[in-house]
Amino acid sequence: MSFETLGLGPELVSALHEQGIDTPTPVQAAAIPQALAGRDLIVSSQTGSGKTAAFMLPALERLSHHSGTGGRGVQVLVLAPTRELAMQVADATRDYSNHLKQLRVATVVGGMPYGAQIKSLARRVDVLVATPGRLIDHLQARRVNLSTVQALVLDEADRMLDMGFIEDIEAIVSRTPETRQTLLFSATLDGKVAHLTANLLRDPQRIEIAPTQKDHSNIQQHLLYADDGSHKRSLLDHLLRDPDLDQAIVFTATKHGADELAGHLSDQGFPVAALHGDMNQRQRTRTMELLQKGRVRVLVATDVAARGIDVQAISHVVNFDLPMQAEDYVHRIGRTGRAGRSGQAFTLAVPAERHKIRRIEHFIGHAIPAETIQGLEPKRAVRPTYKDHPRKARPQGSRPTTKTPWHKEGSAVENKSPWHKDSAAPRAKSPWQKDANAAGAKGRPARDSRPGKPNGKHGSAQQPHDNRRSAGRYPQQASY
Ligand code: AMP
Repeated sequence: MSFETLGLGPELVSALHEQGIDTPTPVQAAAIPQALAGRDLIVSSQTGSGKTAAFMLPALERLSHHSGTGGRGVQVLVLAPTRELAMQVADATRDYSNHLKQLRVATVVGGMPYGAQIKSLARRVDVLVATPGRLIDHLQARRVNLSTVQALVLDEADRMLDMGFIEDIEAIVSRTPETRQTLLFSATLDGKVAHLTANLLRDPQRIEIAPTQKDHSNIQQHLLYADDGSHKRSLLDHLLRDPDLDQAIVFTATKHGADELAGHLSDQGFPVAALHGDMNQRQRTRTMELLQKGRVRVLVATDVAARGIDVQAISHVVNFDLPMQAEDYVHRIGRTGRAGRSGQAFTLAVPAERHKIRRIEHFIGHAIPAETIQGLEPKRAVRPTYKDHPRKARPQGSRPTTKTPWHKEGSAVENKSPWHKDSAAPRAKSPWQKDANAAGAKGRPARDSRPGKPNGKHGSAQQPHDNRRSAGRYPQQASY
């Protein structure tokens, strides 16, 4: 399948080709023809699935048929939850529209100076990408007219609702013509989103794509238990010295925690920066530029600030603190493994957080393999979580709920981690090192082996407090 066969014209196809984008992703294949036909769409898809192109390409194609109508006003309006996401959507739009003549894209986002936005709104704007709050400000000041909007896109609608933008969205939508096309993209389609779709869309086509599990098959997920915060720091230090690491995002629960951890890592000599909502937009933009250029190797970030970051060199994600919601785990690990690359996602947890791990595992539909790093094993034993109460398979693509039995028999746990390569970095001596067991290569996390592979593909370090079970789905999963 090609983008031509989906109905896109040569200008867009050649712009995509220049960026090495030749084959549509599933969400693009499903959404583009329907959107070109003028249908309203409700699309469930994750970041990293190619959703931006799925809504922007048909919008641009339709817009290109109205060429020579400069001065019509805003024709495509995209609402996004965060500045970063809005700016990425605008950047992607500029890339995709490289060969469309005289297309003007404007971005109107919070935390940026008004002056430049007022100036850009005073000129012709074809595609406007905005965060809801700031757009409301401009609407109230009558700086922007939305009566010419033909296509309205709600990107990451669930997140916008979580962030309390419902009234702003409704006020903005009321300024657009009823004849508009509406495309709603969201990771989840339940609850508040269902309510929104019922009010705003006309006879929408519903498209549900790729369960989370499949989306992240290129990301190796690892779980490391720690005794306390200081142990976590030692584990993090070790992980960040992986020679295969290009760039990493480390997630913390709070803005203060992000600053503190960034300071600590800077003291350890890592080229590090923090990214969170307390920073002004200039600082955030600067940090993102440094990250894009590879001058920041480790970004310590909070969930909202890092949402939508699309930097292909992010090879590692580390959950230093667990996410508040299981769903955020999926968004976090999706910052790595971009554009078809592989990625490593490490989650650090203390034993008391075991129930949260279980919630995440049930949300993603499989266990996260618990591992240890030789010399950095936790002192306390932690029993496996997900295998304790195995449930039945969740049908592919269906929404996980606590009521639905959805444990997938035989669902694959990614288990061929390049992590096991012999090139793992030697790490600094730590208090845990003296307890280290002699087996296994030094400095590697010991992934527990699979049934029938007593020592694992690459060999695994024998663990302290070994209470491995000889049967069961993950018989040697959490072996300490
Ligand atoms: P998104 O899901 O919109 O955040 O896109 C994630 C990444 O995938 C971006 O870096 C896009 O440039 C890239 N991308 C989008 N569509 C394709 C495609 N059909 N083939 C390869 N990469 C793509």
